[in-house]
Amino acid sequence: QEDAAYFVSLIRSISGFPKEGILFRDFLPALADPRGLSIVQEALLKALPVAADQFDAIAGLEARGFLIGPQLAAALGKGFIALRKSGKLPPETLAQEYSLEYGTATIEMEKEAIKPGQRILIVDDLIATGGSAQAAAQLVSKAGGSVAGFSFVMELEGLQGCAALEPYPVSTLVSMP
Ligand code: IMP
Repeated sequence: QEDAAYFVSLIRSISGFPKEGILFRDFLPALADPRGLSIVQEALLKALPVAADQFDAIAGLEARGFLIGPQLAAALGKGFIALRKSGKLPPETLAQEYSLEYGTATIEMEKEAIKPGQRILIVDDLIATGGSAQAAAQLVSKAGGSVAGFSFVMELEGLQGCAALEPYPVSTLVSMP
């Protein structure tokens, strides 16, 4: 089977999780599979939204962005910066609040994690509305960095998440209905 089709066949879809009406896409079974893991690693490298010399470090969103960011960064000879859910990091931190369907959420990073002017590629497993990715971009900017682009493994169709990130360069590996 062709790599892309093989990878997609390993994505698990769970309806009604984490709540009614949601079709949750889970790429953990693809990471658990040796061939799936190497496919996603190589595909992310190949599909970089900007050339590797156009960014200095990779920032990943907790938790699933942590599963792809560090290995991608290591393969490119760059460092990895964690964008965490609130309350996990010791001070001093920078925070960015963003809206969810109901209520708000906050992401945080270490205050000095980004050097002034550093160009950052932001990664996560999946983009839906793009709300978390936009918050990540705001946090990177607040920290003095500049956003070079975004890499996602999966994109949920119909939510215009990637359009919400314009004009930043974005790459996604697979689009899920
Ligand atoms: P957004 O902020 O609406 O783009 O949602 C994307 C964020 O929520 C990412 O951090 C994802 O990990 C998480 N997320 C939303 N829907 C799913 C899903 O179906 N599978 C896995 N993660 C999801």
